[in-house]
Amino acid sequence: MRFILELPPCLVAARAARAARAAPVARAAPVARAALTSLAALAVVGALGLAALAPRARAAELAPLPQVASLRLYVFDCGTLVYNRPEDYNLTREQVKDTNMGVTCYLVMHPRGLLLFDTGLNDGLVGRPLYENVLDGYGQIKFNTLRGQLADIGVSPERIDYLVLSHYHWDHIGNAADFAGATWLVYKGDRDAMFSPQARGYAWFGQYAALEHSKTVLLSGDRDVFGDGTVTVLATPGHTEGHCSLLVRLKNTGPIVLTGDLYHYAEERALNRMPPEEKTSGTVESRAKIEELVRRTGAKLWIGHSMEFFRTVRKSPAWYD
Ligand SMILES: [Zn+2]
Repeated sequence: MRFILELPPCLVAARAARAARAAPVARAAPVARAALTSLAALAVVGALGLAALAPRARAAELAPLPQVASLRLYVFDCGTLVYNRPEDYNLTREQVKDTNMGVTCYLVMHPRGLLLFDTGLNDGLVGRPLYENVLDGYGQIKFNTLRGQLADIGVSPERIDYLVLSHYHWDHIGNAADFAGATWLVYKGDRDAMFSPQARGYAWFGQYAALEHSKTVLLSGDRDVFGDGTVTVLATPGHTEGHCSLLVRLKNTGPIVLTGDLYHYAEERALNRMPPEEKTSGTVESRAKIEELVRRTGAKLWIGHSMEFFRTVRKSPAWYD
């Protein structure tokens, strides 16, 4: 999505109030989940006596973490943006098949660690009506939490080794604070923008503020994360100064490039369109770099906000390998 920097103070205050109202939902969901899981555990292990209950109940809360010998890529439904202004992307309503946007998050499971790419819309939106959460013209809907989707495949936030955000806009950082224990791979331009005096005043600042004290690796250029060429952060500045994409080389599926907001709609790619302000900000060069990579390697190019992609992509707990 595009990001409007100047927000009227009344909107900022209203959004802060909404965020505060939404917060108990975010906290309540895991508790309810844990309670239900514990009840199930109680039924199963009741005959074993109380002494054995506590450790078994804890163990039952998460599915076992898969041990992988080669790469897996999981795709999560991290929300939907209801939106009808493709003109902002230099396209007409007739040109875009579906102007709404999916919001995707990805987990790369490597034999030597877990990497999360983007954290989507905030988990506190689950269960909230659309009219409460319209931001910059984007209505936000969410049906399930990222935390819950990770738990379904045996991953607690503490198990994430690396966090990469394609960029810092609010539809990509919604749950980033949950992963402050990971090593954060980030470009200086984005990190500086996230912790500027202005950014500290945004209603969603708290959703990633904890990253300020995370173990942080400032990137320059592309970065081969595991040193074996399977997972590479690609510098693709333009949408923001530190915008990046992720190249994942899967054994059976082949190479895939997760392009963040380098494109929003497939029609942007087909018709070579982009938001007017990005024509001189680096997006032209970044798109050329990625298209050249796609030609050279045959990689699939995934546009996370494309509704057609979002509808058809195989989602967790299934995976690509
Ligand atoms: Zn976006």
